[in-house]
Amino acid sequence: MPLTPRGPVLDHLSYSTIEKMACPKKFELQKVAKVESQPSMAGVGGKAAHSLTEEWDRQDCPDWSDEDWTGHAEMILGGEVADTQNSTGVPVEQWRVSGRESKAWPNKEDLSWWEHHLPLFGKAYAAWRTSHPHLTPWVTPDGEPARELALRVQLPGCESCPPLVGYVDVVMTDATRGGALVVLDLKFGSMMPEDLVQLATYAAMVETRYGPEYRPALGAIYSGRKGRLTPIFKDGAELMPLGHLPTSVISGRVADYWALISTGRYPARPGRHCSWCDVRSACVWAKGPQAWLYDSSHPFYRKETA
Ligand code: SF4
Repeated sequence: MPLTPRGPVLDHLSYSTIEKMACPKKFELQKVAKVESQPSMAGVGGKAAHSLTEEWDRQDCPDWSDEDWTGHAEMILGGEVADTQNSTGVPVEQWRVSGRESKAWPNKEDLSWWEHHLPLFGKAYAAWRTSHPHLTPWVTPDGEPARELALRVQLPGCESCPPLVGYVDVVMTDATRGGALVVLDLKFGSMMPEDLVQLATYAAMVETRYGPEYRPALGAIYSGRKGRLTPIFKDGAELMPLGHLPTSVISGRVADYWALISTGRYPARPGRHCSWCDVRSACVWAKGPQAWLYDSSHPFYRKETA
């Protein structure tokens, strides 16, 4: 298992693990000090939305009635909520809730908001798929439908790093572009990505796993709230070329981050993002009440337990 100076921390890397290094202190608190993040309704609701749309895709686009959508959504969301409550011991009433307060939703995007919106997100996804028949889920050379496609690869040039692991939401083929492969990421929150790094990372993983002839040339973001593909850049392109971010560039990024992680030094990068950081209660920079217990830079780190 790859080691860092602070002990065996990771047996694999993922896109989200690398992104935590945007604030290395957050990485330290989550991956080294093992601070449990407070569950968030957005995280659990988003997971349920992925599962609901995946189920519809895997059942080969059935013609569900409103009652069908509500029933499937209730079952999936209820299961995700119960699993998270059981695994964390934190009741749903104490989870972090995001979104804006409104007359209709005074408690922001809480469980009842997700119960109402989840079937609508599912129906909107089905409507989008149905109105874009030229985009269909790819089937890998192994015969696996590329939906929540699990990948574990050693990127070329990253031999000293742990393997990179990820689940690609969907890889689609575009019949209007000669069957070109498109990496599609589904987002059900209000924040959209500002760059192509995640899509290009998944394209590099698909290429490494299946070979260069299967490298997705394009990437796209589906916004579950808008019910359509959403462009990132001003040119308005919904299907965005990934050719300028080849696997060598992604490998270099992963290797650079692994080198940083391996130093075992994780300086804080405080900022506005601290207000939604899920380990802020354990961070000295956010005046976290548990910082003395978890944050090694706290002046009284673990002194009360010595
Ligand atoms: S609260 Fe801010 S500084 Fe602390 S870990 Fe989170 S993002 Fe980093």
